[in-house]
Amino acid sequence: MWALLGIVSGCAGLPADPTPPQYQGLAGSPSLPDCEGPVSAGKVRVTHVGTATLILEIGPFRLLTDPALDPKGQDYAFGWGTHSRKLLDPLPGQADVEAMAFDAVLVSHEQHADNLDAPGRRLLARAPVTITTRQGARRLGDKAVGLRPWESHTLTTPEGQSLRITATPARHGPAGTRPIVGPVIGMLLEWDDRDGAIYISGDTVDFRRLDEIGEHAKIDVAFLHLGGVQFPKNTGRMRFTMDAEGALDAIDRLDPRLVVPVHYDGWNHFRQPPDEMRRALEGSAVADRIRVLPRGRCVEL
Ligand SMILES: [Zn+2]
Repeated sequence: MWALLGIVSGCAGLPADPTPPQYQGLAGSPSLPDCEGPVSAGKVRVTHVGTATLILEIGPFRLLTDPALDPKGQDYAFGWGTHSRKLLDPLPGQADVEAMAFDAVLVSHEQHADNLDAPGRRLLARAPVTITTRQGARRLGDKAVGLRPWESHTLTTPEGQSLRITATPARHGPAGTRPIVGPVIGMLLEWDDRDGAIYISGDTVDFRRLDEIGEHAKIDVAFLHLGGVQFPKNTGRMRFTMDAEGALDAIDRLDPRLVVPVHYDGWNHFRQPPDEMRRALEGSAVADRIRVLPRGRCVEL
């Protein structure tokens, strides 16, 4: 099913790309052992690698999100004196992910190493296109497409199958922190044979503009970046991503059929313990919508 000959890209709201990136062809590109064969029509096949790193297989497209592929044990600075240690290895590991080919890499923001680390950056060089913020695209270079909220970029196969990626509003902290934390986008993925969109929140708190997303699209599966990020020594009780309580507010605003938490364990700046998150979500009125995925395993949704 990966025997595509080429892929062309188009982008609403930006000048046409004079040299659309040519897709190298996924034929012969390894899949994960439990992910062989075609994805069921209308389904998305998901592997949660760790943090916010997802392998998404949708129709003929294979995407990678927020690649953080370093092994555990390193410390990272996030600016303004904040830092964090990585506590879990990616699953599958870096080499297995690097052996795969991707039609596009989606990076909610490039300025933080838990969303894009050094091996992730090397991988961008091999992907036909990276979709990220406008600021991030300027930093990442020629193959990156920068989107502001509600701008779109469409991947299209020679056979005419298409996947539209639309940037959505995100705010990576309390009101007024954007100049410090930097821009972030979420993304909506919409394609022909699926009823409802996939939503990836990016690193964001729950805030008023999430209402726009629920109004713009019927959301089938929402991948929410949680973790309740805080840096108590630097910024006290300020929270830079949603915790379970924030997720419940987002679910109220977005009304998705299914919710998959990501970006909630494996780093010591994620301050809400995963067990506490699960208890809060799975004990809530929307418990039947919550799907916590096993890391490193393929799941069809
Ligand atoms: Zn971040």
